[in-house]
Amino acid sequence: MAQHAHVLVIGGGIIGVSVAYYAARAGLGVTLLERHTLASGSSFGNTGLLTLCDSHPLAVPGSALKGLRWLLQGRGPLYIHPRMDARFWLWLLRFARSGSDWATFRREWAHNLALSRLSLELYRDLVEQEGLPVAWHQAGVYHVAYTPEVWEETRRLAHEAQAVGLQAYILPPAEVLARLPYVRAPVLGGVFCPNDAHADPAALVHALAERARSRGARILEGVEVLRLVRHGERVREVWTTHGVYTATWVVLAAGVWTRELAAQVGVSLALEPAKGYSLTLPRPEQAPPTALLLDEPKLAVTVLEQRLRLAGLLELSGMDARLRWARVKHMLAAAAQYLRVDTQEILGVWRGWRPCTAHGRPYIGRAPGLRNLFLATGHCTLGMTQGPATGRLIVDLILEQPTAIDVSLYAP
Ligand SMILES: Cc1cc2nc3c(=O)[nH]c(=O)nc-3n(C[C@H](O)[C@H](O)[C@H](O)COP(=O)(O)OP(=O)(O)OC[C@H]3O[C@@H](n4cnc5c(N)ncnc54)[C@H](O)[C@@H]3O)c2cc1C
Repeated sequence: MAQHAHVLVIGGGIIGVSVAYYAARAGLGVTLLERHTLASGSSFGNTGLLTLCDSHPLAVPGSALKGLRWLLQGRGPLYIHPRMDARFWLWLLRFARSGSDWATFRREWAHNLALSRLSLELYRDLVEQEGLPVAWHQAGVYHVAYTPEVWEETRRLAHEAQAVGLQAYILPPAEVLARLPYVRAPVLGGVFCPNDAHADPAALVHALAERARSRGARILEGVEVLRLVRHGERVREVWTTHGVYTATWVVLAAGVWTRELAAQVGVSLALEPAKGYSLTLPRPEQAPPTALLLDEPKLAVTVLEQRLRLAGLLELSGMDARLRWARVKHMLAAAAQYLRVDTQEILGVWRGWRPCTAHGRPYIGRAPGLRNLFLATGHCTLGMTQGPATGRLIVDLILEQPTAIDVSLYAP
């Protein structure tokens, strides 16, 4: 006999766990199914930046030439594996257009910023009111620039951030080096965004899951969803490795794997996996518990308790799971060039796929043509940042309550 859940969430990353938490907090009966363990997907080894200043589209106006140069060099932060797939090239074209000019770039930034702002407010509430058991660093994020071309872009983005109402302070080189003693000179300057934060991403997912459980959510690991069965305008059954489920509401929050699951019920999503890498190294003694973005090699760096994590690269090569050692070496070389870190002792190498939509906004809302299926995915580089807001919005939609921000912006 089928098991029934009022709300059935598929996927145990930051997004699925956030939905489960807010559903349980609203008193809804919620079951979450995760095929491996919680935070085993993209939410595991990322840098855990919770950022307003970097909630803008990845494609910055004027960066097309730079992107092309990186592609031709073959060792820059961007890699595209050529393939015969019209759908992919169409996606890429639309993705590049999200930063084709400053007006479009600003509009898309504002759309993502609304979600990130709400999320940071909710994180603060979770830490301060709910006592979320996680080390939370509200220490801001620094951008550091090393070349004139990059420094110009960094400053321009700081002015754009100020124009959308964010705090972003331009710092001279001496100030950057004084605040970040493990950054190597010479730098051309930096930008400080004091309202950004960071936390260990996997610890964040586990902490939120623990709070969801304590409010009554059933969170099941090792249960894989094999098939969604559609009947008319409803998902009627969810077949899993542990039997069949029925649900009043189904929420698909399976990261990059959402595309295949949604396709089973006739929903086509313009969602592409964008592979990224991270390295975990010992924390240098002089490193304050803050986060920085090295704008030259495009690496994000966060200090997590006794570890330092570096992440970057955007590889559009489908679901190719290969961990290319040449890229790891390139990241290590960049780390040694720009930071005083010990690159001999590597504590972890990881790769994961960001779920990226073509227009750069996540999908949060009811799946087209299906009355009881919600989608919560497509957060690309911002999933950790936007998790709680996504969870809260999905639950408000289920309850048909007014939402804190205009959710139609993210309609699938
Ligand atoms: C290198 C790198 C650095 C990043 N840095 C940041 C950052 O600093 N800040 C930020 O905000 N974001 C960052 N991101 C993006 C962020 O990691 C993602 O946007 C976010 O983790 C996506 O969360 P998710 O819950 O949608 O997906 P995931 O974390 O991938 O979770 C999906 C889950 O669904 C499960 N699942 C899949 N299929 C099934 C099935 N059939 N049945 C059951 N379960 C299933 C998977 O096992 C997985 O656990 C980074 C990403 C990368 C790759």
